[in-house]
Order: sequence, then structure tokens, then C-alpha cells
Amino acid sequence: MSDSLAKAREVVRGARSLVALTGAGISAESGIPTFRDAMTGLWARFRPEDLATPEAFRRDPATVWSWYAARRALAAAASPNAGHRALAELETACAARAAGFMLVTQNVDGLHHASGSRNVVELHGNIRRVKCFEQGHPAASWDPDAAPPRCAVCGSMLRPDVVWFGEMLPAGALDAAMHAAARCDVLLSVGTSGLVEPAASLPFAALEAGAVVIEVNAEATPLTPHATFALRGPAGTILPRLAE
Ligand code: NAD
Repeated sequence: MSDSLAKAREVVRGARSLVALTGAGISAESGIPTFRDAMTGLWARFRPEDLATPEAFRRDPATVWSWYAARRALAAAASPNAGHRALAELETACAARAAGFMLVTQNVDGLHHASGSRNVVELHGNIRRVKCFEQGHPAASWDPDAAPPRCAVCGSMLRPDVVWFGEMLPAGALDAAMHAAARCDVLLSVGTSGLVEPAASLPFAALEAGAVVIEVNAEATPLTPHATFALRGPAGTILPRLAE
């Protein structure tokens, strides 16, 4: 075990209040591509910024619906990996010694809940849910052959219940995450490129408040030079050792 992994593990063990921020990287080992990896094959000619917006949906609802339908199918077929499970176990361990724990995720795949995490704030919604474009009516079922299907209540187009670029985050989710980040003593930033705001600001809010920030990522990010510990490698390998 590397020196910094051993030191980071001691910090995690002693945390009184821990926040874990996760991004697409933690689900990569469950077979769910990050945005960068998702834009291959059929989707190589698109950029996520050109699909994940209300304007894109208005312009070309069939393409946006189909892209999300493919991602929804992937999420439904995926299982949590060792990284998700380690965070669920960390929450249990924190509860056992009366330490605080909050998991803040940018992911929309629902795999943290599936692995048993309980105190989860989903900043960007959940791809497994569907709502209507005009009024937000939730939809439990829809015509599988339509792209996009229509709302049974008001007839407007159905869309995934995720936060698109340029949209507001769910009420209360960002406040809860910011509040926890500014008060925790340890923040783990896992598998996020740190390029999407406002989630990218959470580790910096924690650093500013004096917390230890531990980054777990396969690559360097804008956070890396600022993190107290930067652990390089797959989350599914590092998190179980960090949370042991
Ligand atoms: P991102 O795609 O911008 O970055 C992924 C990060 O994960 C990169 O820094 C990469 O180096 C790292 N990474 C890749 N594989 C890893 C592994 N095995 N272990 C550790 N790190 C690994 O993702 P982001 O920062 O979450 O931001 C993109 C946006 O895309 C978010 O808003 C999110 O909602 C959305 N998104 C979600 C999912 C999902 O729900 N699984 C998937 C793709 C995109």
C-alpha cells in the first residue's frame, strides 16, 4: 500500500463528518460509460453538451430521447461495483461510530442506492425516472415505440428526469451538499473530472473550510494539485482499500 493511501485511510477512519462526492468515473467499472467514453460508435458525432440541453430536446427530441433510452437501458442492466459497495460500507462504519456521512453524486444511474447507500443527494436527478417536458408530470410507463412518447396527463413530450446543462438543480439538493461540504472534516472526490459546476466547487468549499480532501481518480483533474491526497487509479480498487 502506498504511503499516501495508508495516510488517507487513517484520515478516513478518524473522520467525524465525511462527504463523498462521486462522478461518472465510479460507474465506469459497472460498464456505464463516462460522457467522454459514451460519445463513441453511434454517438461519436455528438457532444454531450449538444444533447443534454432543453434546446437540443426541442430541436431534435427523437435523438435526445433515443440517446437517453440507450443510457437508461445500460443503467438498468448494470450492477454496483466494488467502489459503490465500499462507499455503502463506509456509511455503515460512520454510523457505527456516530460520525456524519453524506454521499453527493452527479450520477444519474441509481447505482449508489442499489449498493445500499442511504444518505444520497442526487444533484443531477435520476435517469430511471421520466417526467414530461412542459409540466414535470412523472410518468411510470410510456409507449416503448415512440421517440419521444407523450405524457398521459397533458400530452407534452416525455423526457428523462435528469438535470440538463442550463437547468436548475433539484430544490434543496445543492444547498444540502454545500452545507455538508462546508462543515465536513473529510471530503472524498471520486471519479469526477471537476469540470461541471456547481458540483466542481464542493471540494474547494471543503478545502476552504479546512477539511482534508482526498481525490480518487484514474487521471489528474483541476482538483489534483489542491487535494490533500490524490490517489490515482480505478475507484473499484482504491475505495475498498481506503474504506477497509
Ligand atoms: P466526467 O465524465 O466528466 O469525468 C469522469 C471522471 O472519472 C474523469 O476524471 C476520469 O478520469 C474518471 N474516471 C474514469 N474511470 C474511472 C475509474 N474507473 N475510477 C476512477 N476514476 C475514473 O464525469 P463527471 O465529472 O461526473 O461529470 C459529467 C456529467 O456527466 C455529470 O453531470 C453526470 O451527471 C453525467 N454522467 C453521469 C453518468 C452516470 O450516471 N453514470 C455517466 C456519464 C455522465
